[in-house]
Amino acid sequence: MKKRLLSMAVVAALVGCSEPAKQETTAPAEQASQESQTASTASTADMLNQKFEQFSGEFIEQFWQYNPGYAVYVGYYKYDDQLPVPDAKSLAAELSFAKAQLAALLAFEVKKLTASNASDYYILKNQLESLLFSVEEFKSHQWDPSNYNVAGVFGVILNTDYKSKDERLRTIFKRMENIPAYYQAAKANITTPTIPHTELAIQQNKGALGLFEDTLHTAMTESGLSEADKADFNTRLAEASSAINGYISWLETKAEELKANGNAKDFRIGAELYDKKFALDIYSSLTARQLFEKAQKDKSRVHEEMVKIADKLWPKYFAEQTMPDDKLVAIKQLIDHISVKHVERDKFVDSIRAQIPELEKFVIDNNLLTMDANKPLVVRATPEYQRGFAGASINAPGPYDAKANTYYNVTPLDHYNSEEAESYLREYNHWLLQILNIHEAVPGHYTQLVHSNKSKSLVKSIFGNGAMVEGWAVYTERMMLEQGYGDFEPELWLMYYKWNLRVIMNSIIDYSIQVNGLTQEQALDMMMNQAFQEKAEATGKWRRATLSQVQLTSYFTGYSEIYELREALKAKQGDAFNLTDFHNQFLSYGSAPVPIIRKMMLAE
Ligand code: ZN
Ligand code: ZN
Repeated sequence: MKKRLLSMAVVAALVGCSEPAKQETTAPAEQASQESQTASTASTADMLNQKFEQFSGEFIEQFWQYNPGYAVYVGYYKYDDQLPVPDAKSLAAELSFAKAQLAALLAFEVKKLTASNASDYYILKNQLESLLFSVEEFKSHQWDPSNYNVAGVFGVILNTDYKSKDERLRTIFKRMENIPAYYQAAKANITTPTIPHTELAIQQNKGALGLFEDTLHTAMTESGLSEADKADFNTRLAEASSAINGYISWLETKAEELKANGNAKDFRIGAELYDKKFALDIYSSLTARQLFEKAQKDKSRVHEEMVKIADKLWPKYFAEQTMPDDKLVAIKQLIDHISVKHVERDKFVDSIRAQIPELEKFVIDNNLLTMDANKPLVVRATPEYQRGFAGASINAPGPYDAKANTYYNVTPLDHYNSEEAESYLREYNHWLLQILNIHEAVPGHYTQLVHSNKSKSLVKSIFGNGAMVEGWAVYTERMMLEQGYGDFEPELWLMYYKWNLRVIMNSIIDYSIQVNGLTQEQALDMMMNQAFQEKAEATGKWRRATLSQVQLTSYFTGYSEIYELREALKAKQGDAFNLTDFHNQFLSYGSAPVPIIRKMMLAE
């Protein structure tokens, strides 16, 4: 009983924060007297919570029917043989589904929900509003041809061992049926493509061809399917590659027309759409503009810290040389100089593997948060079919398969020539590699996901907030160093700040490019001279910033909001503040948006 009243109070405060006009404050004495008289009210609340849980369960089930491919990614295979055709009819159906669900959701009295259900309520509301925004206002289905690419899900089905390989090939056979109609609908939808998104779509769909013409063809040949089934399979493969080839040549013609006419749609989405997308995708307490200004301030703070370290380190490495007057130039020179300390290229994967237990030991010895020994992290060389992207990433089981291993995929440097390998190893040098491992593994992404899977809320694990997830990983980098990981070595801090500047700069350039019209030349100059990035890295980032919008701000937004929440709790709790408890409690809400967690934690 007492427990229920406690969580009810949390919810009242939670709602109070977002709707100040209706704020309800219940004095402790009133709460105590209510305790005896509210048996019937409490059971009404119980029923409401049950009803809400039923609603969200049914919502998720229907959501998978509309998004069978996304379902496969999270390990839900019930609709794995279905490929929806993205035509006007299915778009209209999805829209009316979202509208009906949103209306049903808003009918719930959120004040009467438990804290966990209330946060699920806000997450679902956010998801549905995002969906409506994307179809009705953002409309990337009309201007981003890279929305259309069937390969990824086929690859997952082929490579995930959830049923026998022959069964998976039969599923793939069924799922291929709609490929021609799929690309037909894509061409009908695309009315105002931008040049960069068109070029991306051409490149990605060319990559998709290999899956159908080589990988799937080989898998089918080597399978136990009957000769007749193999012949049918071959026909579908031919239809699939002809549909993809048709899409590619259609896009190539478009791209040439757009360039010749010089009137292609700008890839920059502008202030109005950016503000809305930022509010929905990131779920911050700030507006996009405020976040941009905050990032600029933080860039100056980090520069000041780096100057202090450079003043200290300069005589150690350049005793004979005067320090350049331009401090940023001096910092760059120092970073370049010490980056030569790095692991050997053939020891890259092994050295990462060796470092994980050291990080775990530091977290445990310093009592920073609870580690789950039953959920070991498996460090492995990235499987071939997943290579080609980031050098290191966490591959976690979806909510439907929480028992599966969590892998830390590290791509070996085999495919690099010696010059490329050297440049890569200098980037991920002795110090930065440690920060990368904190971010990806312990106590960053891997640790957060282990905690998140315990929250038992499907809503939170499926619709996890990107700013919370990335923000946590970025937060732990600073937290570990502040707690003494690496013994306050100035070189480690210098590298940390370089890494952190990348996160800050991501926010600055994303807003500057999408809203303020920053050019490529200006963006490269900012990244290379103010954030000490190599040209290759900065060029890659420019490209990413032309193709995505808002996502690049998630790291800095989440990180700064988590850090501020911690400081706010410290101020509020004084001597009673405990870092372990803060971390464990923060992670216990699952991957909910930081402002929602903040309301719950500050209300207690
Ligand atoms: Zn070297
Ligand atoms: Zn990350």
